[in-house]
Amino acid sequence: MKLLDIKGIGKKKKELLESLGIYDGKDLYTFLPRRYEDRSKKVELADAIPGIKHYFELKINDKSRTYFYGRNKSVTRLKAFDESGQTSLVWYNDRFSARNLVIGQVYKVYGSYDPDKKAIINPVVASLDDDRIGGISPIYSSVKGLSQKDIIKYKDYIIGNNFSLKEFLDEEFLAKKNIQEINIMYRNLHKPETNLNLYNAFYSYYFRKIYLDKLANKIYRKSISSKAIKFEKVDLSPILNMLSFSLTKSQDLAIKEILADMRSDKRMNRIIIGDVGSGKTIVAIIAAYLAIKNNYQVAFMAPTEILAIQHYNKYRDFLNKLGIQSYLLIGSTSLDEKKEIYEKIKSDQASIVFGTHALFQDRVEFSNLGLVITDEQQRFGVNQRKRLSDKGYYPDILLMSATPIPRTLALSLYDNLDLSYMEDLPSDRLEIKSYLTSIYKEKDFIDFAYNQILQGRQVYLVVSRVKDDGEDQLESVERLYKKLSKYFKGKINIDILHGEMDSSTKEEKQRQFASGSIDMLIATSIIEVGIDVPNANTMIIYDANQFGLSQLHQIRGRVGRSNIQSYCFFVSSEKEIKNEKLIFISQNNDGFEIAKKDLEIRGQGQIYGTNQSGFIELDSSFLYNQSLINLANDLVKNTGEIRGQLKVLVDEKLKRYEDIILN
Ligand code: ADP
Ligand code: MG
Repeated sequence: MKLLDIKGIGKKKKELLESLGIYDGKDLYTFLPRRYEDRSKKVELADAIPGIKHYFELKINDKSRTYFYGRNKSVTRLKAFDESGQTSLVWYNDRFSARNLVIGQVYKVYGSYDPDKKAIINPVVASLDDDRIGGISPIYSSVKGLSQKDIIKYKDYIIGNNFSLKEFLDEEFLAKKNIQEINIMYRNLHKPETNLNLYNAFYSYYFRKIYLDKLANKIYRKSISSKAIKFEKVDLSPILNMLSFSLTKSQDLAIKEILADMRSDKRMNRIIIGDVGSGKTIVAIIAAYLAIKNNYQVAFMAPTEILAIQHYNKYRDFLNKLGIQSYLLIGSTSLDEKKEIYEKIKSDQASIVFGTHALFQDRVEFSNLGLVITDEQQRFGVNQRKRLSDKGYYPDILLMSATPIPRTLALSLYDNLDLSYMEDLPSDRLEIKSYLTSIYKEKDFIDFAYNQILQGRQVYLVVSRVKDDGEDQLESVERLYKKLSKYFKGKINIDILHGEMDSSTKEEKQRQFASGSIDMLIATSIIEVGIDVPNANTMIIYDANQFGLSQLHQIRGRVGRSNIQSYCFFVSSEKEIKNEKLIFISQNNDGFEIAKKDLEIRGQGQIYGTNQSGFIELDSSFLYNQSLINLANDLVKNTGEIRGQLKVLVDEKLKRYEDIILN
């Protein structure tokens, strides 16, 4: 079905849909909600839990009034009530939502009630017969000019016209394993009737995803596993002697395993799984050294420019002292420079190239690629990695993962990879001191950070968004920057870093922070992956409950990367902190334990049970669900010839560049 055939879609809406990656009816049908809101349980004002969104039925008490302030800002209020109490409904910069509400009439209202202020900020209000409130509501990613209502309308249209996809799983299998038929599944994902029904749809969705990933991967593996480079043994003492530290037991073991693979006649396909800060990079660099001394080239790929730049900056001089030439190739490298680097790579003058996705573009030709290293591998798709390794003649593959997952799970998840586990941290590390604190103590932790800066240290402040949107109280990079600049009046050097900056600015800030000229860096979670500035010892995470457990652990892992005592403050907006996640993270430092807990919290309980926050995400922790993985593994084993619709989908998988964590 073409987009223009769908009722309500004209040229303009079509373009907006395309900007979301939706080009036809099928794309729209498979475009899933980003999250769901459980708006099914009606609550009275008196029973509302602060900070949690509820569905109320309220009678409008008076006419709305709008006040203007600042530069085109406005606040609109009116009063409403139910039998248990009264509240203001308050909208920031939205004069229209309240306009047509009739005094004396009862409406469905969705939002969170603040009993101190007796107000609901930016509620969704709908008439009693509107089913956007009262059930489980899908929330789609959207763009300006394309509303939730629009997307839901188009979807209803194609579903109403019986749009369907071909099933590729066996009917009998579906029935036996309680997997929903593909079209029932999609309908449930768009319009879940109950939590249970949605849970089953998630389960079915992720089963299909895991199964197809594994199947695609099996084909990919078949095509590569037969040949291998056999590297000769070389003397490692030059590189080992250059290290300023002694290797940990885990590093030693990982290096042994890697070198054995590389010297064997089997192709290496290994993943290093380790906690944040366990020192994975140097292990990979030692592997690179072996390859380079065997006259092969090495590609070192990272998912973000910041990370690629950091690796390059950190290891360029180090490798240079060993007579090894490094280069950096990223998207923002200038064209002229790129040409020059392509030439160096092709003519074998570049021994190791650090880079991002730019490394596997068609223009890049290696003369003799022998080892492909991928950092933070979960951020790349199978095919992205394959495109890079196809640039050599069966190069060895070394992956690094930042998500420490329990060993039993890793064994079934990465069943086609060899695992190197890095469980211990460098022995000079002091445990990061973690504190759970409230925004009401802001002056205290900011002064603490200032004190650290006076002692020569550096500080990260992480917030969940770049700009204020007036809607909620979440701290933003811009607001915090203004506030702290005023507070410190030039006494220290404060700067910002976030994903909306162009890459040369990002690189500049990153370099300045690494060199110590920025004292305090206010950033978004963009710094979550890999950033390594050992002199930074204090991390302050605002609105910490906005981040997932594993993410918080990653962010905290930006400090504690040297023998200096480090500190991390998890800041909550509540006065009295009851959030289970924050309590847990502030008391635990072991990435493997945290990953386990994360899976527990984000796992089945959240979707199936009563969902405290009222949000239900299309929860990717299903990808780690042991029984789903086992089921998929079994089916892959029992899949004979790949034909028909299954073949179409598997081929598509092999072609598409999407992030999947499986190999
Ligand atoms: P991750 O495993 O999180 O990628 P990195 O490889 O970035 O960690 O290493 C973290 C920091 O620890 C780096 O500054 C690195 O130079 C240092 N490092 C690595 N191994 C050791 C060691 N055995 N002893 C002390 N410091 C180490
Ligand atoms: Mg790393």
